[in-house]
Amino acid sequence: MEKLYEGKAKILYSTENPEVLLTHFKDDATAFNAQKRGTILEKGKMNCQITVALFQWLESKGIPTHLIEQSGDDQILVKRVKIIPIEVVVRNIAAGSLCRQTGLEEGYELPYPLVEYYFKNDELGDPLLTRDRLLILDLASEEQLEQLQSLALKINQNLQEFFASCQITLVDFKLEFGIDHQGQMILADEISPDTCRLWDQTETDPQKRVMDKDRFRRDLGKVETAYQQVHKRVLERLA
Ligand code: UDP
Repeated sequence: MEKLYEGKAKILYSTENPEVLLTHFKDDATAFNAQKRGTILEKGKMNCQITVALFQWLESKGIPTHLIEQSGDDQILVKRVKIIPIEVVVRNIAAGSLCRQTGLEEGYELPYPLVEYYFKNDELGDPLLTRDRLLILDLASEEQLEQLQSLALKINQNLQEFFASCQITLVDFKLEFGIDHQGQMILADEISPDTCRLWDQTETDPQKRVMDKDRFRRDLGKVETAYQQVHKRVLERLA
């Protein structure tokens, strides 16, 4: 196996099959464009298993994903895709950069889901894109943009319902998409507490309810416990 790419939270390897790649989930955690670094014990395994459970469940709802199968505690086999260099963020409740940039109060319930596009480019600090910036930079075609929007909304609707059944509020999350060898747009990357904001509906305290990477970003403590809770609730629900 040849290492093709090492990112902040995952490593990508080739396999004997040119159409199949292996993704290894790391325990490493980074925030603020990798200015803050740390380790979250067992994160690799937990994020891998949460991603597998959610991707399989989304597949059952008609959303195509790159997942082939889990091949170890912290690794999956995935279809090779050409990643679209856009981070698609969907928000149901105001938090994070939306609050910092607009002054909206954290916790404000948005009147409808907000879909945003960020340029996946560390050097530029993943800037927010407008529709025309995205088209002019040729990051996606108009047709692909429509597809991204409708897939993102469909995924949001399914995930929101799913997490609610685990007594978790899906505040916001980030998705990445790729184009497979047949030219189809499919969901790629991961869905985990690293890439979602998740609030525990059984807690009212605004710090205690945080079950995601914000515990690490904001030094709230009990990071592992939060990830374990999400892992437990998601896997139990789908068992
Ligand atoms: N997010 C992510 N990777 C990124 C940026 C954001 O997974 O590089 C997720 C983040 O965990 C959150 C959502 O996207 O669930 C929205 O993040 P936001 O724009 O509020 O950025 P932040 O406040 O984390 O800087």
